[in-house]
Amino acid sequence: MPIRAENRARYPQDWKLRSYFVRKIRARDHCEWCGAENSQPHPKTGSKVVLTAAHIYDDRPEAASLLNLAALCQKCHNGHDATARHQRRKARQQAGQTELRLQARLDRPAGRIDTGLLEMRSHPEESLSALDNMQKKPN
Ligand SMILES: [Zn+2]
Repeated sequence: MPIRAENRARYPQDWKLRSYFVRKIRARDHCEWCGAENSQPHPKTGSKVVLTAAHIYDDRPEAASLLNLAALCQKCHNGHDATARHQRRKARQQAGQTELRLQARLDRPAGRIDTGLLEMRSHPEESLSALDNMQKKPN
């Protein structure tokens, strides 16, 4: 992946050295996931392999620990990034839904919930037994 201009400052100063170490020394010019060899046709896609250093567990540019980096071919790198994008989108959607639910609760008339919480704080044991009794009553 080419580094986006707006993210360049977030990479460590020795990023090129880290990338080189992961691709050339540790992975010996092979994709660490599928084994495709750098500069050769990919065994599955047939396109020329260009190894890149990919962020695996933490995709922030500054998370450049060697344990967080892997030498990957385009196919593996794109697949990994697509999965990460999908998970982030899903997390954002879930966070949005949680926010909507919380907002709906806040928008409700406050009376019952607030006084209930205040009562629980000042008389926790009585409130708990009152709750128990409420739950025991048939609807
Ligand atoms: Zn690969």
